[in-house]
Amino acid sequence: MGKILLTGGCGFIGSHTAVELINEGYEIVIADDLSNSSRDTVDKIETITGKRPLFYEIDVADAAALTALFAEQPIDAVIHFAGFKAVGESVEKPLAYYRNNLDSTLTLLETMSRYGTKCFVFSSSATVYGDAEPPFSEEMKTGGCTNPYGWTKYMIEQILKDAAHADPSLSVVLLRYFNPVGAHESGLIGEKPSGIPNNLMPYISQVAAGIRDHLNVFGNDYPTPDGTCIRDYIHVVDLAKGHVAALGYGLAHTGAEIFNLGTGRGSSVLEMIRAFETANHLTIPFEIAPRRAGDLPFSFAKTEKAEKLLGWKAQKSLTDMCRDAWTFEKSCH
Ligand code: UDP
Repeated sequence: MGKILLTGGCGFIGSHTAVELINEGYEIVIADDLSNSSRDTVDKIETITGKRPLFYEIDVADAAALTALFAEQPIDAVIHFAGFKAVGESVEKPLAYYRNNLDSTLTLLETMSRYGTKCFVFSSSATVYGDAEPPFSEEMKTGGCTNPYGWTKYMIEQILKDAAHADPSLSVVLLRYFNPVGAHESGLIGEKPSGIPNNLMPYISQVAAGIRDHLNVFGNDYPTPDGTCIRDYIHVVDLAKGHVAALGYGLAHTGAEIFNLGTGRGSSVLEMIRAFETANHLTIPFEIAPRRAGDLPFSFAKTEKAEKLLGWKAQKSLTDMCRDAWTFEKSCH
């Protein structure tokens, strides 16, 4: 049995998936250039699981460095988390986003092909559904993305589908994440954005911690029940378990398959604020601010396909998400 390569394995979703894979008995190798994560995540994964993952500090778009890794380690499957992910930044620096996100995927596929590695699990995003009508189901037409980050996910999905079509022995699993939040219940790993958080939960956590004085709610005049946007928030540990199921599926099947990883439940921004306040017994000051460019009123998943084919379903509640996010935030100070 070979090892599982996690690119971006020190990041938010990658590190939680590393923990769940080790708990399931997989041997993993992490490749991460630490451009948006930190080396001590490897120690934390070891503390949680009792097992230290192999770690390569490399950029996976660096073909020579990646080849050296494949020459040293027998790799059965790749889970590709590494990538630039800031929506606003992608609008400012589109070429950097296309270059980095597409290059890393192509380099991985070419290297896998040379070493006979046949299974690729990809971190895609619900953003590929664009402004389609939710609930989003896997067979819906994609496109209509509102920023270059979203288009990189859309394009990489296409590259991977084409690669699987051309090589019938290849297995490709495309995972469309909804809104991952929360943290490992140990409080050791979680989401640690550098600078001002773009995403809702890290922002709320920093307001709770007193780092920011209030949350700006981006628009309360959307055509939703309370006027604020609806998203499908999923606990990152549930999401990580979804990767374990997806990897098992990929190792057992060939061809390309797409799965939503969400809960199927939508929550508004105001509901998230209230859930955080109730779960953690504190108050989150907020102000209504103008809409943020590119935000869509509704996003939530249809989850039946993952339930049926992967035997996976999200288990954790909004309370769990808010409690664990806060436990992690407190551990950072
Ligand atoms: N949001 C907000 N204030 C913030 C950050 C986010 O009101 O400081 C809102 C945002 O407009 C969206 C929701 O929270 O409706 C989720 O935003 P996030 O960036 O976390 O996820 P995405 O928009 O990518 O689904």
